[in-house]
Amino acid sequence: MSPIRRPFSLNIINRKATSSDPHKSGGMAVFDTRCPACAGPMFPAFQLDLHDPQLEDLLSWPHRVLELLVCPRCPLYMEPYWIRYGANAATVSGGDMIGEVLLDIRHPYDSHTVELADAVFSPGNPRHMIGVEDQHVSGSALSCLYCARPMKSLALVDTDEQNVPLYDSMGSPAALIIGDNDLLHVSCCEPCSTLGFQWIR
Ligand SMILES: [Zn+2]
Ligand SMILES: [Zn+2]
Repeated sequence: MSPIRRPFSLNIINRKATSSDPHKSGGMAVFDTRCPACAGPMFPAFQLDLHDPQLEDLLSWPHRVLELLVCPRCPLYMEPYWIRYGANAATVSGGDMIGEVLLDIRHPYDSHTVELADAVFSPGNPRHMIGVEDQHVSGSALSCLYCARPMKSLALVDTDEQNVPLYDSMGSPAALIIGDNDLLHVSCCEPCSTLGFQWIR
C-alpha cells in the first residue's frame, strides 16, 4: 500500500507492440471480460507491466499486468463500473448504459506499444496518466463495491482519437471515444483487488 509517487503519461506509439514491449494498448485482454452494457469484449486501453521499476511503487496488485479495460462500443454515459481481479478471472459489475451502442468494433484488436513519460498534471489537458493523486480529481471519489471504503485515485484516461488501434467491422479505422469531453477516472481498492471506472467532467 505504498503512496503513488508521481504521475506518468501513457503515450500510445503508432507501432505494433512486440513481446518485448512491457506496456501496450489493445490486443487481447488477460481475462475474458464482457461489457456489462452490451456484452461485447472489453478493450484493454492499457496493459501495464508492474515489474517495470518505474511502476514498482504504483500499487499492490495480485497480477503482473495491470489492465485498464473499457468498452469500445458503448463508451459514452455508462454508469460507474468495477472490475475485481481474482486469481483466474475478472468480474465486471455496474456499468449500466444510458445511451446506445455506438460503434461496431472488430475483435481482436491490434496492439500498440505504450511508452511511459514523466508527466506534470495539468487540469486542462491531462491526457492518459497513471499515478494520479486524489487532489487531481476533485469531487469524484468512488467507493469500493466490495468493502464500501473510498477508493484511491489511480489513472485518468482522456478521449483519444489518434493512435488507438481500433477498426470497425468493415476494416476502417475507428476512434476510441472515451466520454463526451469527459475523462475516465480509474480508482483502486488494493485490499479488494478492484478497479473502479467513472466518467468525470
Ligand atoms: Zn459495451
Ligand atoms: Zn474494497
